[in-house]
Amino acid sequence: MKYLLLLPLVLLALWLILRQRGSHRVQGKDPAHHKPEAVDPTAAQSPTEIIECARCTVHLPRTDAVAGLHGLHYCSLAHRQDAEGA
Ligand SMILES: [Zn+2]
Repeated sequence: MKYLLLLPLVLLALWLILRQRGSHRVQGKDPAHHKPEAVDPTAAQSPTEIIECARCTVHLPRTDAVAGLHGLHYCSLAHRQDAEGA
């Protein structure tokens, strides 16, 4: 007689466990796997990021800029030396 009471509870527990596993699989597919790996390389590269010269405000790619003090960027060494007085 006890088994008749336990059986529905066991089946209910199994159903809940299986349903949770199924929903985790569905959630894992969409946001977790592909998007972060696809976004990170493009964000790290950013080859065409445009910055502004702190001296003459001309715009140029960051790869062509001269890094200065305080995180500033300049279009040339001459402008960096002119702005920083070095
Ligand atoms: Zn400049």
